[in-house]
Amino acid sequence: MNELLKKSALELADLLAGSEVTSVELTTASLDRIDALNGRVHAFLFVDREGALATAAEVDRKRAAGEKLHRLAGIPIALKDNMVTRGVPTTCGSKILGNWLPPYDATVVTILKDAGLPIVGKTNMDEFAMGSSTEHSAFGPTGNPWDLSRIPGGSGGGSAAAVASFMVPLALGSDTGGSIRQPGAVTGTVGVKPTYGAVSRYGLVAMASSLDQIGPVTRTVADAAALQELIGGWDPRDSTSLDEPVADLSVAVSDVHSTGSVEGLKVGVVTELSGEGYQAGVLAAFHDTVEKLRKAGAEILEVSCPSFDFALSAYYLIMPAEASSNLARFDGMRYGIRVEPEEGPVTAERVMAATREAGFGDEVKRRIILGTHVLSAGYYDAYYGSAQKVRTLIQRDFDRVFSQVDVLVSPTAPTTAFRIGDKISDPMAMYLNDISTIPANLAGVPAMTVPNAVAEDGLPVGFQVIAPARADRRMYEVAQLVADLSEDVSSASPAAQWEESK
Ligand code: GLN
Repeated sequence: MNELLKKSALELADLLAGSEVTSVELTTASLDRIDALNGRVHAFLFVDREGALATAAEVDRKRAAGEKLHRLAGIPIALKDNMVTRGVPTTCGSKILGNWLPPYDATVVTILKDAGLPIVGKTNMDEFAMGSSTEHSAFGPTGNPWDLSRIPGGSGGGSAAAVASFMVPLALGSDTGGSIRQPGAVTGTVGVKPTYGAVSRYGLVAMASSLDQIGPVTRTVADAAALQELIGGWDPRDSTSLDEPVADLSVAVSDVHSTGSVEGLKVGVVTELSGEGYQAGVLAAFHDTVEKLRKAGAEILEVSCPSFDFALSAYYLIMPAEASSNLARFDGMRYGIRVEPEEGPVTAERVMAATREAGFGDEVKRRIILGTHVLSAGYYDAYYGSAQKVRTLIQRDFDRVFSQVDVLVSPTAPTTAFRIGDKISDPMAMYLNDISTIPANLAGVPAMTVPNAVAEDGLPVGFQVIAPARADRRMYEVAQLVADLSEDVSSASPAAQWEESK
């Protein structure tokens, strides 16, 4: 592999700034690796060679002319295929959008374009971000670069696999219940769900609007910090976006990296997220990292969040409820495919039904049915109303424990990557993969995964750090500490040895 692709985005930024490499060279290396390996990995649904190289050439021209550029200018990036890109296919992993070409860019896309990051393509995902394995994509699954017969997590398995196989140093994902973090854990990459509202959702195809959040997918904590700084901030087009300055995450991360300081840090181990149901090797890696934090001087406290036991149930009522409403717009009238009934009158309602029957996959249909059911007049209080009460209890649990500790930690996912096909026919088994990631979405607090070990089965494990709302900086600091106390997981990946010629 081209050695450039093994480097972090920030290392590449230094090379670009020193004119030791051009963005065209770097972006070409990235595109060539995608071309050579995507047939096997299937991380990308669409590759925009022309668009990416045009951006790269433009950045090189500006740099040569001495123009001031963003630090990440010229670094190739991949986008999960639920972020709309003007004139570039956006499928959400679904057939229903057909050949739809969005007429506008998501705010994050506008930011990336303005900063000069070549967007190399759109990555595979579970249909409409529903799933934990990327097997629910209408375009076929993505392989985990550690073992292509295994899942790369979901729903953002494509972005995670692209970064884990050194196709790109940076990607964006979206996290509604864990879709950035769980893929991060099972592919040995860093994945961040920022505080709800910290990154604009404008142009992110909505799944569950009160839970969805865009965030970075990278191989290092420092790269994620730099990327979040870039994409974060207030957006008048997203009424839930936070109107406050973006914290200086990069400086915080590099300070921790150079001092290794844990002065007075209080770390809470969540009882409910580190016991039953977790693979032995995952738990062992988790406790090992907690022990390293203790030895480094952090105070470790065991804390209990009893309502977390109900988080998964509450999520699988609230999320489908919101999704059933958000997905009502895919009706054969506005975007994508339009299917007419095979026989009988062509009424609007029957066209909608035929379009949705043909265009949506099983998991999407399951959730729309569930969502409309829990919102229906007779069941609203019993299901949706109760789930919202549980959501409040979860938020209170967070408030209470965050008065005792600075951050909470847990394993990110209960197991290492499972085999493609193992859980696809058992929705409950699939849903259980998000047991540790969902509480953060329900409360809107930031959470991230950092690879901390390779388990006994030779597969990577992730360590989750959760911080109070708006304390993303603290989360990044602790994640950097964990990274510094852990082995270098990503370079242990077999994908680090893959050659493009294979
Ligand atoms: N796996 C979870 C689900 O299926 C989370 C999805 C997500 O975060 N987009 O709903």
